[in-house]
Amino acid sequence: MTSALLPTYARAKVSFERGEGAWLVARDGSRYLDFGAGIAVNALGHSHPHLVAALTEQAQKVWHVSNLFEVPEAERLAQRLVDNTFADVVFFSNSGAEANEAAIKMARKYHAAGGQPERFRIVTFEGAFHGRTLATIAAGGQQKYIEGFGPKVEGFDQVPFGDLAALKAAITPETAALMIEPIQGEGGLRVVSPEWLRTLRALCDEHGLLLIMDEVQTGVGRTGKLFAHEWSGVTPDIMSAAKGIGGGFPMGACLATREASRGMVVGSHGTTFGGNPLAMAVGNAVLDVILAPGFLDTVRKTGLLLKQRLAELKDRHPNVIADVRGEGLMMGLRCVVPNTDFAAAVRDQHMIVIPAGDNVVRLLPPLTIGEAEVGAALDRLDAAAASFETALRGAAE
Ligand SMILES: *Cc1c(COP(=O)(O)O)cnc(C)c1O
Repeated sequence: MTSALLPTYARAKVSFERGEGAWLVARDGSRYLDFGAGIAVNALGHSHPHLVAALTEQAQKVWHVSNLFEVPEAERLAQRLVDNTFADVVFFSNSGAEANEAAIKMARKYHAAGGQPERFRIVTFEGAFHGRTLATIAAGGQQKYIEGFGPKVEGFDQVPFGDLAALKAAITPETAALMIEPIQGEGGLRVVSPEWLRTLRALCDEHGLLLIMDEVQTGVGRTGKLFAHEWSGVTPDIMSAAKGIGGGFPMGACLATREASRGMVVGSHGTTFGGNPLAMAVGNAVLDVILAPGFLDTVRKTGLLLKQRLAELKDRHPNVIADVRGEGLMMGLRCVVPNTDFAAAVRDQHMIVIPAGDNVVRLLPPLTIGEAEVGAALDRLDAAAASFETALRGAAE
């Protein structure tokens, strides 16, 4: 039977009826260990009681009023984000791409408001992913996403990952900002070093540029800090967040300093749905858990355990796994075998992992996992890797 859905995804032939913590239950009753978390979205796993309560309570009061009125839950969530980050102000959106659109518009408007409207270009990095809108595909610079969609949005200059000479050459009097993910997610879990982030900060300060960090995937506790850039001690001027921030409810945010947001005045930007009471109730509930004392310590501890166990896995299966990368509970396995084959073999073991660029599979479990889930994951990854070893031995004989 042909599907009525636009065929832009090659979907796995499995669907899920419910979820409990780090587990998804398929329609046939089989249980899958979810180390994908809906692509780093279900930060607190499935059916977290505190999130379910927040959503259902709000659902009985008011769902949506628009941004023409005050939304107390949005005020509260924005203030909590401000209290816990570099930022002074927050704009709520529904997705990561929209958060990045807000960030890009804000960076351009900053210079326009400062009397330099010619400064609109943004330097980005090879392997980046910033979303699927026309501006964010131009920012990401990946030909496979750009091709066929008409003229590429003007104003994005891409340089190789970590190439200082190329970066310096790309900065011109028209440059407005640098934009980077602290760890490339879709690009294959490439971690940006703290030194490189410090270099970017210094270049921004030297040239009067804004530093935009895309923390859509790395943010909200994923790496063991509330935001990944905290590991480097460098702060951005503008930052996007989404994915985990809503714990599964569609939501994004663009955070900024007051200075960086100086051009964004009444009427300059907007959204119908962004910051609505349902999303804000869930966003506040997510923060209740992530900001609770000890929560991020546990994420860091579990992340270290996972990293150590993955390193052992790699040593046991050098013909299948080449490298372990990442930070906290945002880990990647660079594969020797094709990553999509490995992800399929893992799924045969009833575990979910997510392919990324650079022949990597991503492990993005709920932040609530513990030792038991790490153990269960390693059993499944081991079995999946072993299935390749058997095949490889067969081929050699
Ligand atoms: C997923 C992602 C986006 C896009 O988010 P959407 O919610 O799909 O629009 C942008 N940047 C990064 C780093 C992402 O991982």
